[in-house]
Order: sequence, then structure tokens, then C-alpha cells
Amino acid sequence: MSRASTPLLELNDMRCCYGNFVAVENLSFALEQGSIACLLGPSGCGKTTALRAIAGFEAINKGEIRLHGQVISSPNYTLPPEKRRMGMVFQDYALFPHLNIYDNVTFGLRRMSRDERRKRADELLELVDLRNLGDRYPHELSGGQQQRISLIRAVAPRPDLVLLDEPFSNLDVDLRERLGREFKDIFRNEGVTAILVTHDQSEAFAMADEIGVMCSGNLVQWDTPYNLYHRPANRFVADFVGYGSIVEGIVADSEKVKTELGTLCSNNGELPWPRGTNVEVLLRPDDVKMGQAPSALHGRIVKRAFKGAETLYTLRTPSGHELVSLAPSTIDYEEGSDIGLTLDTNHLVAFQRNDMADPCSCKHQSSLSPAHETLAQAAQG
Ligand code: ATP
Repeated sequence: MSRASTPLLELNDMRCCYGNFVAVENLSFALEQGSIACLLGPSGCGKTTALRAIAGFEAINKGEIRLHGQVISSPNYTLPPEKRRMGMVFQDYALFPHLNIYDNVTFGLRRMSRDERRKRADELLELVDLRNLGDRYPHELSGGQQQRISLIRAVAPRPDLVLLDEPFSNLDVDLRERLGREFKDIFRNEGVTAILVTHDQSEAFAMADEIGVMCSGNLVQWDTPYNLYHRPANRFVADFVGYGSIVEGIVADSEKVKTELGTLCSNNGELPWPRGTNVEVLLRPDDVKMGQAPSALHGRIVKRAFKGAETLYTLRTPSGHELVSLAPSTIDYEEGSDIGLTLDTNHLVAFQRNDMADPCSCKHQSSLSPAHETLAQAAQG
């Protein structure tokens, strides 16, 4: 196979166990050079295990992992982490506290000459706008600055792949999105291929070109952010990604679903179920239009959340349904107001009822091992 047609990273039917417990099952995906992917899912769904298997810190029990077409993990072989040319970024930054920023950034560059190291560190510090802070120590930087340093330390040796484990979860919400976009620009600039794991969809959306949603050790959908939001593969993805409400209904014909809120029409193709099938329809905030008069449907505003350019309203209809709607924040509705509503389901997203036959039952699990230990292992040799 030619190098051009070979994905940078491939996981084929990977299984990862802790003793008898299967933490990741049947995981397959491929990543092209230069793309940014994300494994997204609730706590305990197996994201970190998958990332650690890619890094070489966990052996796999079935399937294989390939880098540039070469097998780096299989049930009887694990290429050591330090031979994988991968960089890692952790949620607690994991900067070496006794090293100044310059020495942290050049930590993985021991094979370069002193001049080359200096040049590379300067160019990266410049890239994250921290060029004057090389002599400081990590505790003298803010959380956001430390995470920027952690990123450029990972990128400095020009690794084949950068792995990021919940990199922004110690930072406030505004900074998360800003850093997510900054990191994405840095990856583009440096031609880096990256995989991020997170349970935070805004983090995933800010950075990733493709996202794999995981539940209970399984990959549920691998898709673009747009498709996950607008064409979720099942009810679990619909619930997990983005805001929305679910309304029960019955298929009336190949393009219509009858619900308590009215008949909803599908403009995006025929429904795959026969008339009379019980379904659940996903209503995203952009499907629910407020203040459209005259309207048979109305709801009382029970909550509003200011989002800058837009405000997200939660409304309760007389039949007890809770709907969410986005409106420009220049239109200011009071809490408690009764507002006319129109359902504009251009892309009708429906699931056959009881589609959650295998509901996600992920449990919380704290982090696995100290990040420093992991880094030190990766830097050996
Ligand atoms: P989080 O977002 O909370 O970090 P996660 O999606 O990254 O979660 P993992 O840390 O990969 O999930 O854990 C997946 C499953 O494997 C969980 O059920 C967890 O309890 C279990 N697990 C993780 N590490 C171990 C271990 N060392 N021994 C046994 N079970 C483990």
C-alpha cells in the first residue's frame, strides 16, 4: 500500500480489558494526517483507556492499532510509548515544577543542538504569545498559560500524533473555548494530527474535525460535529450532544409524525418506519421558533440563559412538554411570559421508541495514573 493512501492512525476492532472487565470493545476508526479527532462521551465510557492504548500505556486484548500502516499494538505486541513518536497533554498540565518554562518546552528536544533547541522553543513560545516567560517557573503562570506551555512542550519534538486527555477541564468555560480554538490553529500551523478525549461537547466542537461518541466502551457514532448535532445516530447521541427536547409521536405517513404538539413534517427524506410506529422526535433549539403569531402552540418561559449573541429559553407547554429555543439576545423575553411557538423541523430527526435497548450505564471513574509518571515513561530512551 502506498504511504499516501495509508491513514496516519488506524484502530481495527480494538478491545481493551482490565482483568475480566471489558473497558473498550470493537473500536475502529482511521485518522488522516493533519486531522483533529475527538473521543467524546460520559465519564467511564472508555475514552481514556482508548487514548492510553493508542499511547502504548495499555496493552490491547483484540484487534490492532497501526501508525503509518505499521502495527504498534496487537494482543501479543505493544510497541513501547517512547518509540511511538506521540506527544501528550494532560488536564493537570503536568509541567515539571522544578524546571523553568524554557526547560519544560525543550524537555523532549535533547537530541537537538543547543541552538536548534533555543530556536524551536522561541518559535513555539512566540506562537502562544508567551515569549517573555521562558525564565519563569510553572507556579508563576496562570492555568491557561500553563496549559499553553504543556501543549507546545508536546508539539516541540514534531511528534506524529498529539494526544490530549481532557486538556481544558481545569479551566473556566470561556477560556476552554478560546484555548480550544487557539490549539486548533497551532495544530494547523504545525501540521499536527491530534486526538482529544473529553466529556465536554463544547471542547470537542471547538477543536475537532471528526468526533467519535462513546458509550459503555463502544463507539456509537463517528462523524462530523454537524452530523452529530443534526443527524445523531441514536437517542443516546441526541441526548448527549447539544441541547434539545424529545417529543413522543406516531408515524402518520412516510413524511409525517403526529405529536401532542402538532404534526411534524420531514423535508429530508422518507421516514423508515410504517404508519403507526411509535417514535421519538428530537427538537433542537433552532427547530422551535418563538413569537411567531398567530400560533396554536404556546409555552411559558421557565428559564433563560444568556449566551452572548443569543439567549437560550426553556419553555413549558400546557401539555407539560419542555422545549428549548434560541433567540437573538436583542429580543428580550421575560421569564414567566407566555409565547407563541412554531415548530420548524426542516430536518426531522426521529428514533423508533425504545431505541435505547442498550442504555448507557457509564460510571464515574477518577483518573488512572499520575500524568508525570506517564510522561517520564514516554520520555525514556
Ligand atoms: P473519565 O471521563 O471519568 O476519565 P473515561 O471515559 O476516560 O472516564 P476510562 O477511564 O477509560 O473512562 O474507564 C473506562 C472503564 O474502565 C470504567 O468503567 C473504569 O471504571 C474502568 N477502569 C479504568 N481503569 C481501570 C483499571 N486500572 N482497573 C480496572 N478498571 C478500570
